Amino acid sequence: MKIKCDICRQEFEKIYQDDMFCDKCLYQINLEQAETKDKLVLFLKSEWYDKIEAGRKTHEYRRQSAHWRKRLDCFYKTVEFHRGYTKTKMLFEVTDMRLVDGKDTDLHINELVYDIELGRRMK
Ligand SMILES: [Zn+2]
Repeated sequence: MKIKCDICRQEFEKIYQDDMFCDKCLYQINLEQAETKDKLVLFLKSEWYDKIEAGRKTHEYRRQSAHWRKRLDCFYKTVEFHRGYTKTKMLFEVTDMRLVDGKDTDLHINELVYDIELGRRMK
């Protein structure tokens, strides 16, 4: 059964009796309640690393796999990118974390994905 989310008013599929919020809004609520951590470390293929370094990519996306669900269940102040498994790295401020539709991202998948929005480069 489809119902309207109590926060954003968008329709979503109700699964449990007490569902009131869509997955996107639920993620925001959980982030606000979780502790904030200092740094998320990500290893990237050189192609993606270079795009971010050149300022041509300002969002990093991750699937909602069990692995990422566990790691991205709290807000991080910064994200450190490594160029492959090397010591070449850079540090960015994180300005926002949210769930977005994956088909609009470079993952091109039809499900909600994590969107880590990058702010200024710090190192
Ligand atoms: Zn909502």
